[in-house]
Amino acid sequence: MPEKVAIIGSGPAGWAAAIYAARASLDPLVFEGTVKPEMIPLGQLAFTTEVENYPGFPFGNVRAFVESAVDKDRHWNLPPAPTHMRDGQLHYAVQGVELMELMKQQALNFGTRVVSDDIIDIEVSGPLKAIPASGEPVEAHTIVVATGARANYLGLDSEEQYKNKGVSACAVCDGALPFFKGKKLAVIGGGDSAVEEATYLANLKNAETVYLIHRRDQLRASKIMQQRAFDHPKIELVWNSTVQEVIGDGEKVTSLQLKSTVEDSTRDLEVGGMFVAIGHTPNTAFLNGKLDMNEKGYIQWTKPFRTNTNVEGVFAAGDVADDYYRQAITSAGTGCMAALDCERYIAEQGL
Ligand code: NAP
Repeated sequence: MPEKVAIIGSGPAGWAAAIYAARASLDPLVFEGTVKPEMIPLGQLAFTTEVENYPGFPFGNVRAFVESAVDKDRHWNLPPAPTHMRDGQLHYAVQGVELMELMKQQALNFGTRVVSDDIIDIEVSGPLKAIPASGEPVEAHTIVVATGARANYLGLDSEEQYKNKGVSACAVCDGALPFFKGKKLAVIGGGDSAVEEATYLANLKNAETVYLIHRRDQLRASKIMQQRAFDHPKIELVWNSTVQEVIGDGEKVTSLQLKSTVEDSTRDLEVGGMFVAIGHTPNTAFLNGKLDMNEKGYIQWTKPFRTNTNVEGVFAAGDVADDYYRQAITSAGTGCMAALDCERYIAEQGL
């Protein structure tokens, strides 16, 4: 018997799709992935610390709730709980892994089945099939592709060492954390994202100088965004420079070693954080071009306000089809939409 709904991916889009599909008695099967970074179990939030902007999760003793809700056999996956206190109470935002384990638990509670496997291909000519790395192809009436995207990094060992200790690829997610408060910060890149991230950081309360470091002497960002950066009193452009090394004391970033792209020189720039904004790569390689994608490899939604792809019965949700909003909440929203689209498709086809 074909599956009614097979969901590929286990970030907010995948779990939201599973929750809705399970509650609609569609008995979804989720492939949660095993390989980092292409198919990241629990999605990009698995790499994030505190998530302060996911609605419904104000500060508090989040861990107590997480431990009460998530099955004990997965508590090993939870990172250490933060220890910030206010008025004698634990006072911190939900962490990325906690949020994803809660979403997974909610999907499991309604009967979602989960397979820890990577999908390496799909078949769309004839009956739909998801093809796992190990084992037989899984036939399905509908497939939701929710494999997300991954942030591009510079590829330095020192950058890897300081991830979550001052290196981030998302200012909107991490910039307002106490860790960065009152520190000089750097944003790397010259596109709209880099300018947007720099502006976001520069507009935070208690913001210090934000250096926008670009490898050329001209931004790629749109003119209006460029002007925003040039006009902002707290943004300082650093032209013709790349980051050669992230320097820190083991616990936090303290400076960047910059290399000039136009002359043979290096210099150190004191900063307490580095935000990399040099683009994202959607996790679509496994589709082998079988769905229509845009020039950057993101799946194309083919109907306004719907999650349809160009293949009947295949829907896309989350960052794998969205290079614009890229937020956990928008991913979860489109995951919900994809499940509803599956439900309607199945009903229309009489499957
Ligand atoms: P992008 O436009 O591709 O820009 C990436 C930037 O990173 C470029 O300036 C590039 O430099 C630089 N870069 C790439 N690899 C690098 C490396 N290894 N080392 C140093 N620098 C590197 O990506 P994006 O800014 O994420 O934007 C993606 C899309 O979303 C764009 O279409 C953008 O317009 C859109 N977007 C729009 C908004 C908005 O309208 N508010 C906001 C965000 C994004 P070079 O310039 O030298 O190639």
